[in-house]
Parts: sequence; structure tokens; C-alpha cells
Amino acid sequence: MRGLAGKIALVTGASRGIGRGIALRLAEEGCKVVVNYNRSADAAQEVVEQIKAQGGEAVAIQADVSDYKEAQRLVKEALQAFGRIDILVNNAGTTRDQLLLMMKESDWDLVINTNLKSCYNVTKAALRSMMKQRYGRIINITSVVGLAGQAGQSNYAASKAGMIGFTKSLAKEVGPRNITVNAVAPGYVPTDLTTYLPEELIKEMIQLTPVRRAGTPEDIAAAVAFLASDDASFITGHVLTVDGGLVMQS
Ligand code: NAP
Repeated sequence: MRGLAGKIALVTGASRGIGRGIALRLAEEGCKVVVNYNRSADAAQEVVEQIKAQGGEAVAIQADVSDYKEAQRLVKEALQAFGRIDILVNNAGTTRDQLLLMMKESDWDLVINTNLKSCYNVTKAALRSMMKQRYGRIINITSVVGLAGQAGQSNYAASKAGMIGFTKSLAKEVGPRNITVNAVAPGYVPTDLTTYLPEELIKEMIQLTPVRRAGTPEDIAAAVAFLASDDASFITGHVLTVDGGLVMQS
């Protein structure tokens, strides 16, 4: 894709699942990639090795992005590694599903901090250098659940809807500096995050999805690569659903 070769990308939560797919795709497009992870050091290293084996450049950096200081350190170390950050993908995320009446405060806080506060933490840390270089592509991985809601996921839906408001507001702030801010809203993608879902619910979701299949990390990564490319330089504040049409059925 146009304009990606030689760019520096920081992908949060890139050790597994969708983030891993995004890191690999951006590397294929010629980006140097910072593979952020929290707990899965071996998996993150495996992503780095895979990128290197294909002739690319990557480093793994551990940081819990829900923590403001850790996010600052992550960005500092990323800048030390590659000198700049052109593309930031806020992908790290988690769930703690429960009906609201039974939802523990700690589960509300964990999900909001991991999914939403992390966007504030990492973006704020990376933004200054993007402003200075007058170039940036920020892509936030939200969810169709942030658009449509989902029983048992009020914490997750609130975090993902919050990411959409964050995306649109920041797009207005930084557009004049040639920085675009967009969101990608995946539908159902089988990853570690969704393994707990009952078989019946998965069947129902696929049946409701007009293209009649689950998504893959590669489907989501393709949308991210497009939004990061020069072909998307006139797109900002947009939420791109990559869901096989699922959200239309909600
Ligand atoms: P996943 O397979 O569970 O992977 C989650 C990733 O996030 C892991 O790499 C994990 O790193 C990282 N992570 C979690 N907490 C972190 C923290 N505090 N600091 C840094 N990294 C952290 O999940 P996924 O399905 O790929 O989801 C990726 C994103 O897509 C999430 O934002 C999710 O909400 C969104 N999404 C997923 C689906 C879906 O159906 N799968 C649908 C819509 C949206 P470690 O393992 O190293 O801790």
C-alpha cells in the first residue's frame, strides 16, 4: 500500500490475536514495528522473529498500557528504538463480561482502563512527536459492540464507545497537523478474547453475519493498513466497521 514502506508503527497488544495480525501486516508493507505486549513475552518475541525472518525490523517492548507511566515509558523506548512513531495502533484490549447488577467495580475499572484509558495514555505520549513531525496515523481498534451495545458487556461497550468519541474529538484537534485519527470496529473474530463464548452464541453471530463467516485478524489488519496508508490521507474521524455486515443486524 502507498506510503507505508519505511514508516515506524507502534501496535499495542501485538503479542496475540488481532494486534499480532496488524503487526505482521504492517511489517509486510515495509513498516518497522514496535510489538507491545503486557504478559505474553514469548508470543511477542515470536512475532518479532517472524517479522525478522521475512526481512523486516521489529522490537518487542513490555508495558501495561493501562498505566500512564508505563505508557510513557513504552513511547520513550519506541522512540529510542526507531527514532520516530508514524503509526500508532491502539489495539490492546480485554473483557470481563457480567450483567451490570453483578459486575464488580474492579472489572469495570480493569476494562475501562485497559481499553479506553490506554488510548489516552499511549496517544498522549506519542502525540507530541507526531505534531512536531507533522505526520501521524492513529488507528483505534474499537468494536461493533461500541456501536450496538451487548447485554453483559456494559463495561466493554462503554470503553469501545468511548474510543469512538475519543477518535472523533482527537481527529478534530490534530487534523491541521497532518495527523489522521480513525477507528476500526471489528465484528466477531475468533481469538483468545472470544474463546469463552458459548458455541451456540458463535453460531448465532455467524448466522446473523451477512457474509456468513467469522472475521480473521488478517481482515482487520487489511483495514488498518489501508487507514495507515497514503490512500487514506483524506479520511479522518471515521469508524470503519469490518464485521461482514453484522452490525447492520443489531
Ligand atoms: P486477545 O487475543 O485477547 O489479545 C489481546 C492483546 O492485548 C494481547 O496481545 C495482550 O497482551 C494485549 N493486552 C491486554 N491487556 C494489555 C495491557 N494492559 N497492556 C498491554 N497489552 C495488553 O484479543 P483480540 O481479540 O486480539 O483483541 C484485540 C482488540 O480487538 C481488542 O481491543 C478487542 O477489544 C478488539 N476486538 C476484538 C474482537 C474479537 O472478536 N476478537 C471484536 C471486536 C474488537 P499480553 O498477552 O502480552 O498480555
